[in-house]
Amino acid sequence: MEATRLSSAKPVNALKPTKELSLDEDATKASDALPLPLHLTNAVFFTLFFSVVYFLLSRWREKIRTSTPLHVVTFSEIVAIIAFFASFIYLLGFFGIDFVQSLVFRPTPDVWISEDEEEENEVLLRKEDARKVPCGQALDCALPPLPPQAPIVAAQKVFDEKPVTVLTEEDEEIIKSVVAGTTPSYSLESKLGDCKRAAAIRREALQRLTGKSLSGLPLEGFDYESILGQCCEMPVGYVQIPVGIAGPLLLNGKEFSVPMATTEGCLVASTNRGCKAIHLSGGATSVLLKDGMTRAPVVRFGTAKRAADLKLYLEDPNNFETLSIVFNRSSRFGRLQGIKCAIAGKNLYMRFTCSTGDAMGMNMVSKGVQNVLDFLQTDFPDMDVLGISGNFCSDKKPAAVNWIEGRGKSVVCEAIIKGDVVRKVLKTSVESLVELNMLKNLTGSAMAGALGGFNAHAGNIVSAVFIATGQDPAQNVESSHCITMMEAVNDGNDLHVSVTMPSIEVGTVGGGTQLASQSACLNLLGVKGASKEVPGANSRTLATIVAGAVLAGELSLMSAIAAGQLVKSHMKYNRSSKDVSKA
Ligand code: ADP
Repeated sequence: MEATRLSSAKPVNALKPTKELSLDEDATKASDALPLPLHLTNAVFFTLFFSVVYFLLSRWREKIRTSTPLHVVTFSEIVAIIAFFASFIYLLGFFGIDFVQSLVFRPTPDVWISEDEEEENEVLLRKEDARKVPCGQALDCALPPLPPQAPIVAAQKVFDEKPVTVLTEEDEEIIKSVVAGTTPSYSLESKLGDCKRAAAIRREALQRLTGKSLSGLPLEGFDYESILGQCCEMPVGYVQIPVGIAGPLLLNGKEFSVPMATTEGCLVASTNRGCKAIHLSGGATSVLLKDGMTRAPVVRFGTAKRAADLKLYLEDPNNFETLSIVFNRSSRFGRLQGIKCAIAGKNLYMRFTCSTGDAMGMNMVSKGVQNVLDFLQTDFPDMDVLGISGNFCSDKKPAAVNWIEGRGKSVVCEAIIKGDVVRKVLKTSVESLVELNMLKNLTGSAMAGALGGFNAHAGNIVSAVFIATGQDPAQNVESSHCITMMEAVNDGNDLHVSVTMPSIEVGTVGGGTQLASQSACLNLLGVKGASKEVPGANSRTLATIVAGAVLAGELSLMSAIAAGQLVKSHMKYNRSSKDVSKA
């Protein structure tokens, strides 16, 4: 879609390398050779051209009237003819280049799209984008008061662009020793003390070892120091994922531009349409119901009786204070909320829940749990700790415990979509949406034996926002648990839609959230880093935004299905037209 937008705005410039060069302010331009500024030179030649044309035409008319042969020319006519050709060549050279290049560099349908399609898309885009932020053109809606705008700060360079890494002779020796197996690849960072160089050497060694090229996987333009010991080991480059923006999402009276990192065509456009429908209907409301990360170690005893003894001890309210003091020692932000136990024979699973401030909290809760396990060992010396995680947590796996008890942030988000908006923006009817929701998201999912999957595509939006904002993408599994409800309200005129998501696991500090690109996306949402006012406020807001974006995504996809547009739009925007067999 973006390609369409570019090509329809100015098809040639988008492909013209010469213009790109002109972006460099210091580059020498041909116009620098002119004695006058460019606009004055143009004015002189324009005036000259039209004056001599006028002069020559009037001379021509004169000669016809007086029957003078045309080839008999005076000195002034010779000068005028020379001036005519000179100015014509100048003007052709200046203004004709764009035209000629537009023929030479015409984009092929392979790269962009066919003209017919372009026109169609142009219409579609105009319709979509007729919404001058924040309201639509077709439907009137009262503008909600916007927060005062912060002044626009000039774009900042995240890190200096460095020249492409050139491998030295010394690097060559190291590459050879990595290939020979004498230098372990994982030790390059600590040995060289330069993460970028380590990545370049590892990459080259890998290419030689495998005989496969990594060209296409960029190495330059990434801060390898920022991931050391935190985000990724043994890097050889980074994968680029485009980030699109859906919004503004009007949620709890505030507008959010939601960044979505995805390679699935239609997804951002569709979520954007959902945001538009929500905005035109007055916005959505999102409520955080619970906020607690969990970790459940598994311990084993000699008998089931002993396992039950510990269960009773842990669940006795009189012991909670002692346990929470022990647990809370691990962090300024981790605060024990409760312990829920399950027994399987002699084995006990203890599900600890704690608040974790603005962190997603897995590390934090694990540290607290370790403290408690060490403490319990005194009173229960026969307790055999099998694992800090016993899967009753339950992390990155579909599990009923998260669906029922919640994990991370539990959020409900709702909106009432006006019937008019359903018809004009979503191109369907309230009745069709309610019926489809019942048969697809509720009955269909029940027939499939779904666990937390009573929705159309919550996982799509959750994954895209997670990747853009530096969340753990694997936690998409339980974070996408969602039940979507739709009901006709206001005498059947309007649509009440809601998403209930019990286990959204997000943070705004720690993990990938501190990386430059991800933190820029968090910044866009106004939830970057630790909240200065209330610890945890940023991560909680982020969870509500995720739910709001899911609400938008659900509305739009369900409408596309109800209106029978899904396959058509995916064939158009989500299907490669390239012949991959030739790639
Ligand atoms: P996680 O527990 O999500 O895996 P980390 O433990 O890696 O995350 O990151 C949390 C770190 O950030 C902790 O060291 C914590 O002390 C620090 N921190 C700073 N400010 C906050 C905050 N507002 N909320 C939570 N943690 C914070």
